[in-house]
Amino acid sequence: MTDEPYLARPGPPVGSVSVRRANLSLVLRQLRDHASLSRADIAQATGLHRATVSNLMAELLDRRLVREVGVEHAGAIGRPRRAVALHGAHVGALGMEINVDYIAAHGTDLSGRALVERRVVFDAMSSGQDRALRRLCLVAGEAVTAMKRAGAAPAGLAVAVAGLVNAASGVVTFAPNLDWHDLPLADRLSDALGPVRVPVTVDNDANLAALAEHASGVAAGTPDLVYLTGEVGVGGGIVAGGRLLRGADGFSGEVGHLPVDPYGERCGCGRIGCWETKVGLAALVRAAMPEQAYELPGSPVPDPEERVAEMARGLTAGDPRMLAAASKAGRWLGLGGAIVVNLFNPRVIVVGGYFAALAPWLLPHAQAELERLAVAGPAARCRFVASDLGFGAASRGAATVVVNQLIDDPTSIMDPPPRPTAR
Ligand SMILES: [Zn+2]
Repeated sequence: MTDEPYLARPGPPVGSVSVRRANLSLVLRQLRDHASLSRADIAQATGLHRATVSNLMAELLDRRLVREVGVEHAGAIGRPRRAVALHGAHVGALGMEINVDYIAAHGTDLSGRALVERRVVFDAMSSGQDRALRRLCLVAGEAVTAMKRAGAAPAGLAVAVAGLVNAASGVVTFAPNLDWHDLPLADRLSDALGPVRVPVTVDNDANLAALAEHASGVAAGTPDLVYLTGEVGVGGGIVAGGRLLRGADGFSGEVGHLPVDPYGERCGCGRIGCWETKVGLAALVRAAMPEQAYELPGSPVPDPEERVAEMARGLTAGDPRMLAAASKAGRWLGLGGAIVVNLFNPRVIVVGGYFAALAPWLLPHAQAELERLAVAGPAARCRFVASDLGFGAASRGAATVVVNQLIDDPTSIMDPPPRPTAR
C-alpha cells in the first residue's frame, strides 16, 4: 500500500473519477448486502463488465476493504470461483447516542463487526449543555482510542440525539429533555476530537434506531415500519416504502409531543399533555415506583436498565401498583399507536427501550387499544413488536449510517486527501 495521496498524482479526467467512485460503491454495496459473492455474481448483479469487476476488486483487495473468503463451487461443472466478502477491519465507524440518562457508543469496522460497545450512565437532564457536551466528547475520545487499539481508525462519527436535529448542518435545534437549543453539535464534536478530523454527522435518535431496525432488527427488511423509542422521551422514526421519512426540515417523527390530553401534565417541551407525559419512562416510574421518580432531587441517577429490570421483577411477582401502571401505560401506547397507524399505515410498530423490556405487560394492552382506535381496525394488520436491539439501537443505527456513508463514497477512505500545504 502506498501513502502517496491519490489526488496528487496526474489524475484521470474528472468524469472517470466519479465513474470509478460510483463503481467501487456499487461493488461494496453488493458485498454489504450479502455475506460473500464471487466476481461473477457481482458482475451479474451490478451489470458491470467482468473485467471491470476484476479491476475494481484488485483495488479493493489492495486497500484491504474486501478479502478472499474461499472457493465457491457453482454446480458440478464449471471452474470453482473464489468468493470475496466485505472486510475493512482497519476502517472504523463510530456511532454514539446521548440521551436523558445515558451516553452510548457503538464502534464497528467497515463490515459491521462490533469493536467497542459502551453505555455510560449520565444525568444529562440536570448537568446542563456544556457539561453534557464535555462528557459526550470524553466518551467519544475514549471510544476512538479503544477502536484504534483494536486496529481500526474511525473514518466517521455519527451521533444520535433525542431531539430536533438539522441533519444537513449538524445543529441540534431543540432537545427538550436535554434542554439544548441551537447547539452546533457536529462542529463542537469535530473540534473536540482534535487534529485527526473525522466527518461528524448528527441525527435524531429515533431516526437512527429506525434505520438499525430496518437493517438488522426483528422486522428487518419490512418496507413500512415505525420505530418508537421508549425512554424518558418518546420519539418516532418512520420508514415508508423502505426509506426514512424526514419531512421538509428533518423534524418528522416527533410523536412524543402529540397533544393527547389538554388537561394533562406539563411536558419537557413546555406544552401540556404530550403523549410522552403518558408513556415516557418518567411517567411510568412515577406511577409504578414513586420512590424512584425522576423528579426527586439529590438522588443519584439510576441506570435506566436497572430501573426497568426492577420493575420487571415487580411485575413478574404480581405487584398490583406496578401492574396497574403498566396496563395504563400500555393503553396510552395503543392510543398513540392508533394515531401513527392512521397516518402512516405501517405493517409493524417496533418498540425499543423500556417498551421492549416490559413488552409482556405493555403490548397486549397496546395492541387491543390500537385495534379499537385505528380507523382501519384489525384490517390495518399492524403489530406492535418488541425490538431486540436494547438501549443500543440508536448508537448501532448511527454506526450503520457511517458505514453506509463510507460505502457510498469509498474513495474517502481509499484516497487520503492531499496534505495541507505549509503556511
Ligand atoms: Zn412535549
